[in-house]
Amino acid sequence: MIDIKFNVPPYVDKAADYIQECVKNQKICGDGEYTKKCNAWIEERTGTGKCLLTTSCTHATELAALLCDIRPGDEVIMPSYTFVSTADAFVLRGAIPVFVDIRPDTMNIDETLIEDAITEKTRAIVPVHYAGVACEMDTIMDIARRHNLKVVEDAAQGIMATYKGKALGTIGDFGAYSFHETKNYSMGEGGALLIRDQKDVEEAEIIREKGTNRSKFFRGQIDKYTWVNYGSSYLPSDMNAAYLYAQLEIADEINEARLACWNRYYEQLKPLKDAGKIDLPTVPEGCVHNAHMFYIKARDLEQRTRFISYMKENGVLVVFHYIPLHTAPAGQKFGRFHGEDRYTTRESERLARLPMYYGLTLDQVDYICGLIKDFFELEEQ
Ligand SMILES: *Cc1c(COP(=O)(O)O)cnc(C)c1O
Repeated sequence: MIDIKFNVPPYVDKAADYIQECVKNQKICGDGEYTKKCNAWIEERTGTGKCLLTTSCTHATELAALLCDIRPGDEVIMPSYTFVSTADAFVLRGAIPVFVDIRPDTMNIDETLIEDAITEKTRAIVPVHYAGVACEMDTIMDIARRHNLKVVEDAAQGIMATYKGKALGTIGDFGAYSFHETKNYSMGEGGALLIRDQKDVEEAEIIREKGTNRSKFFRGQIDKYTWVNYGSSYLPSDMNAAYLYAQLEIADEINEARLACWNRYYEQLKPLKDAGKIDLPTVPEGCVHNAHMFYIKARDLEQRTRFISYMKENGVLVVFHYIPLHTAPAGQKFGRFHGEDRYTTRESERLARLPMYYGLTLDQVDYICGLIKDFFELEEQ
């Protein structure tokens, strides 16, 4: 029986050699050679001021929240249609997530609704680039400038994607990438903080290293290191970085393979969209995406439930995505929704993600699309 998984973590053969090298040389702690290589690769590729590899995207966002000096009672504007980490990082600082509705075409925060949600307590905007398709960053940056707010991009899904030529994660004050095993490039658990301005780098290095100036010490800039601020431990083992670096070396190849699958899905499913049976993702002008995800939208929750079962019966794992945060117990406890929930709940209930990973073949995509066509034909009867 056919068995197509939803996700397979990316792996390239060199990862085993690199990890073995770390182990043999007994260099497995943080900020070793491979961590430096990953940071340098990301800096060069994205043009960010500074990249610091972290233990997760969640931790990179926590680090950003600390750098933004978020305090209890501060408000942070974000979409409700996102992963819990987007909110957690700020809730941990005592902040209130203020959820704003999304745009149905990209599932990203609706930039035209942000300004109305601003109060005198608002400190930051956290756009989430869903599926590696950019939020409308010109508008968001303009609002932030006029209201003196920080912008932290949740670019967990955004590596290798751009907005008007700029890498996602490099436009706001801070950007967070994820290298979780479900993402385009992986180190098992891991992430990165992108820092736009040089003035924030030293404090970021200190907080990431338990509040010490150890990074400066290792660079020989001071002769002993000490505790200088609050902090935590956000640096990953170099073994994880070694696993990731092997993928970064062939990042374009991985990206192109994913894009080929994405384009094939789109091409094959476009007739269903043209017939008004499903909706497909939109990539606005000026956005270059990274094929992080391919999704379709069914008519409603009931049809999506039937669709997911049908695909499962035929050996293909299709999954839904976020339950909007404002409807979750913690979302109700810690946050609030500003304005009307026109699209967040409705669109999230229609969306189903199709298999997408490095190694998925075009034949498999064709098989999946064949099943989808069959399903929607059966729905007509
Ligand atoms: C995956 C993801 C995260 C969390 O990433 P971790 O590296 O697992 O912490 C945060 N936000 C979004 C939008 C994500 O997709």
